[in-house]
Amino acid sequence: MVVAEGKPQSSIDTAEAPVAPDPESRIRALFAETICLMGRRKRAPEIEIGFHAFAGLNSYIRIRNQKVVIRISDILLGAPLEVLRALARILVAKLFRQKVDGEATQVYSAFVSDPAIRSRVETARGLRGRKRLTAPQGRYRDLDRSFDRLNREFFGGNLPKPRLSWSQQKARTVLGHTDHVHDTIVISRRLDSPSIPNYLFEFVLYHEMLHLKHGSRLINGKRYCHTRAFRADERRFPSYLKASARLGRLSNPLG
Ligand SMILES: [Zn+2]
Repeated sequence: MVVAEGKPQSSIDTAEAPVAPDPESRIRALFAETICLMGRRKRAPEIEIGFHAFAGLNSYIRIRNQKVVIRISDILLGAPLEVLRALARILVAKLFRQKVDGEATQVYSAFVSDPAIRSRVETARGLRGRKRLTAPQGRYRDLDRSFDRLNREFFGGNLPKPRLSWSQQKARTVLGHTDHVHDTIVISRRLDSPSIPNYLFEFVLYHEMLHLKHGSRLINGKRYCHTRAFRADERRFPSYLKASARLGRLSNPLG
């Protein structure tokens, strides 16, 4: 999220946090083990795992820049180990284009058809219906076009495109927001204006795109979004200093 009056966010910095055996590391280890086993290799490749509050239980696995990138729904974070093991076998089979074994499919299907899980998915879906989205083309700016440009320049074109929308109101404080539940980036209408320089608009969009790239990390039960790696990526934006200074001033209603 980009908020115009930015409190320093340096406290949200996870690099020095103690490494706890959180669900994320456990799942990562599980995938590493499964990749070695099913791919008959001694060493697991680098794995990037993200938990996204997608409305459904969609998961994906792909290879990107020699890394195995996995995204799974955060509904699965608390799933029993055997379910996660089954999911790892299903996804890794897809990765290696192997036949998915029936037992894994059975274990995973039993979990996702559990009424408690179904109701969580339904709740997430219900929210999607209530969300009002606009077309990505504004009056002066095109979210679609800028997303593609930034994706090419900073993400090697690899960032899956979410839904892009302008906010209903010209929000003064929240300039951008990434909604993982609805896989949507919403940018304040206030930035769809000739009085706002294009680099500023694109910086806000870029910040939200970084949320898609980095997801969140769960450390000791707390979620962190603006991690050190996130902030480092943010500084790669060419007008970073200018843009962040200007964002501070935007909080002034007259500014
Ligand atoms: Zn943010």
